[in-house]
Amino acid sequence: MTGEPVVLARGVRMSYGDTEVLRGVDFSVAPGEVSCVIGPSGSGKSTFLRCVNGLEPVLGGSLRVLGEEVGHTLRDGKYHPWTPKRFAEFRTKIGMVFQRFNLFAHQSALDNVACAPIHVAGMPGDQARELAMEHLARVGLADHAHKRPHQLSGGQQQRVAIARALAMSPTLMLFDEPTSALDPELVDEVLEVMKKLALDGMTMVVVTHEIGFAREVGDTLTFFDEGVVVEQGPPADLLAASKHPRTKAFLSSVL
Ligand code: ADP
Ligand code: MG
Repeated sequence: MTGEPVVLARGVRMSYGDTEVLRGVDFSVAPGEVSCVIGPSGSGKSTFLRCVNGLEPVLGGSLRVLGEEVGHTLRDGKYHPWTPKRFAEFRTKIGMVFQRFNLFAHQSALDNVACAPIHVAGMPGDQARELAMEHLARVGLADHAHKRPHQLSGGQQQRVAIARALAMSPTLMLFDEPTSALDPELVDEVLEVMKKLALDGMTMVVVTHEIGFAREVGDTLTFFDEGVVVEQGPPADLLAASKHPRTKAFLSSVL
């Protein structure tokens, strides 16, 4: 799939009941790209990420992720819907980090990170814990491996959540406002880890209001509003001279 976008959305639609939340989203992410997404609350950013990893069905348009149409395979001229097993398999290739870290409260950082390799990938425990240690070291938490979530700061917990997502060697990482729940003094340590990941060449979609991160690390900045992509471009261009009044209004509220 050389050259093919990692994510290619064309006219993606999605509704909750009668409420249309995505109204024709056009969006693409190239291999190795860091794609930052901003937009007002309720504009459909989280829903779009959930469609990308197959947690919500796409009701119209086309959404190709990692070279496949999410949710079904076209074979012999017919659509074959994915089985739950197929969805689960697909999701192992995509790491997701949420605003709330959702760590297992009764397990150590190490066990949180080793969990999916053991229970999803079937890796032997010793090997999974060794791998987990490597990923914890990568996010600067080797010394905290045996602590439970409540013994860690919010920033450290979020770094564990990132290590946990990385443990399955994903091809694509999705971040949904990963620093929004953190005290301001803990934001930078998480952004630093994400920046390192970007420099390592990871393909990332990052929904964030951290404009400084988008400017410094992002290759593209996309502005979502009312279920569509209003504007997309290099972060510096969009931030210096957005063409759309809604983007301008939003930026002036967060800058
Ligand atoms: P954002 O992440 O940009 O804040 P969301 O994708 O979370 O936006 O939400 C988009 C719209 O969909 C909002 O109006 C929200 O109220 C609605 N919504 C989100 N999740 C659900 C759900 N599970 N059921 C019904 N409506 C939902
Ligand atoms: Mg959201």
